[in-house]
Amino acid sequence: MYDYLVVGSGLFGSICAYELTKRGKKVLVIDKREHIGGNIYTKNIEGINVHVYGAHIFHTSNKKVWEYINQFAEFNNYINSPIARYKDELYNLPFNMNTFTKLWKDVYTPNEVKKKIEEEKKEYYIEEPKNLEEQAINLVGKTIYEKLIKGYTAKQWGKPCNELPSFIIKRLPVRFTFDNNYFNDRYQGIPIGGYTQIIEKMLEGIEVRLNTDFFYRKEEFEKKASKIIFTGPIDQYFNYIYGPLEYRSVRFEVETLNEDNYQGNAVVNYTDIEIPYTRIIEHKHFEFDTTSTKTIISKEYSSKWNIGEEPYYPINDKKNSELYEKYYQESKKVGNVYFGGRLGQYKYLDMDKIVLEALELIERIVE
Ligand code: FAD
Ligand code: UDP
Repeated sequence: MYDYLVVGSGLFGSICAYELTKRGKKVLVIDKREHIGGNIYTKNIEGINVHVYGAHIFHTSNKKVWEYINQFAEFNNYINSPIARYKDELYNLPFNMNTFTKLWKDVYTPNEVKKKIEEEKKEYYIEEPKNLEEQAINLVGKTIYEKLIKGYTAKQWGKPCNELPSFIIKRLPVRFTFDNNYFNDRYQGIPIGGYTQIIEKMLEGIEVRLNTDFFYRKEEFEKKASKIIFTGPIDQYFNYIYGPLEYRSVRFEVETLNEDNYQGNAVVNYTDIEIPYTRIIEHKHFEFDTTSTKTIISKEYSSKWNIGEEPYYPINDKKNSELYEKYYQESKKVGNVYFGGRLGQYKYLDMDKIVLEALELIERIVE
C-alpha cells in the first residue's frame, strides 16, 4: 500500500512526488512513457541535450519558483531571442525596434516607428474585427501581419487567419526598444546538462514504474493507494463521457547534421506559408555548445490531433472550455483524486506555473 499514487512523471507529478516524500508519505509514480519527465524530457545525443518534445525555456518573475527549480540544476543565462525567416528576409522577434527598422528603411526612432504603424493600422482599420486577420491588422498593421503573423499562425492552427476567431490574439506585444528578449520575466535560463536531471533528482529514492498506463490496470492501481494525483488527460479519466477535449498536436522531425552550426540561433520561426514547418530548433545553442562538431535540429510541424496521439496545445475555445467545465465538475465528485498539470487541467501552463500549482496542491492536501 502507498499513501499516494502519482500518475505521470512530468514536472507536475514529479514535484508532487518529491514534496510528498519529503513530508514522509509513501509514493508510487507511474508513467506510460518509457522515460520520466513528460514533455520537458531532454535526451543527450552526440553530447547535445535535445529537447525531445519541443523547445523549453524556463522563465519566471517569481523568485520563489526560480529558487525552487535552481535546487535541482544550475541554470545558464540563455535569453530566448528567436529569429523569423520570411522568404529570404530575416527579422528579430518579438516585434521590436530591430524588427521595424529592417521592415521599413525610412524609420530610425521609436516615434517614427509608432507613426508608421499608426498609418498602417488606419489604412485597413475594421470597427468590429470578425476574425484573427482583421484583429491582427487592427493591432499591428498590414506589413507585420503579412510577413510575420499570417503564415505562421495559419500553420500553427491549421486554418487561414480569416477563418480563425479573433480572440486568439487579444494583444500582440510590440516593443519600441532594441530588445530581442522574447520574455518579459525577471529570471530566465536553461538547465546546464538538460531538464531530465531535474526530474531524476526529484524522483530519487521514489518507486517509479515506466511503460505503465494507468488505464490498463485502473482498478488494481486504485486499490494501491488511498489518494491519487492524476496528471493525465481529465476526459480520459472519465472515459470521455461528454466527448473528447480537442488538442493541437506537433510532429518533430529530428536530424543530426555533420556541420557544427546550422542556423546560428536556437530558434528560427518560418513565417512563410510555403514552408511546411513552423520553426527549426537547433538544440546546441540552448547551451552555447561550441565543442561538438555535429549539430542536431528539429523541424516542428503543427498537426491535427486524433485520440491516442500525443496531445500538445489545448484548444481553449468556447466549445472546449464548456466541455472542460463538465469534466471539472465530475472531478469534484471524486474526493480522493486530485487532477493537476496541463492535461489534468486542460490548460496551457508554462513550467513556472506548474511549479507553483504543484506546490500549492501539496500544501493544500497534506495535513
Ligand atoms: P506532462 O509533461 O505532459 O506530463 C504528464 C505525464 O503524464 C506524461 O509523462 C505522460 O506520459 C503521463 N501520462 C499521461 N497519461 C497517463 C496514463 N494514462 N498513465 C500513466 N502516465 C500517463 N513551458 C515553459 O515554461 N517554457 C517553454 O519554453 C515551453 N515550451 C513548450 C513547448 C511545447 C511544444 C509545449 C507543448 C509545451 C511547452 N511548455 C513550455 C509547457 C511545458 O511543457 C509544461 O509546463 C510541462 O511539461 C507540464 O508538465 P505536466 O507534468 O503537467 O505535463
Ligand atoms: N506568432 C506569429 N509569428 C511568429 C511567432 C508567433 O504570428 O513568428 C503568433 C502565432 O499566432 C502563435 C502565437 O503568436 O500562435 C504564440 O506563439 P509563441 O511562439 O509565442 O507560442 P508557443 O507556440 O511557443 O506556445
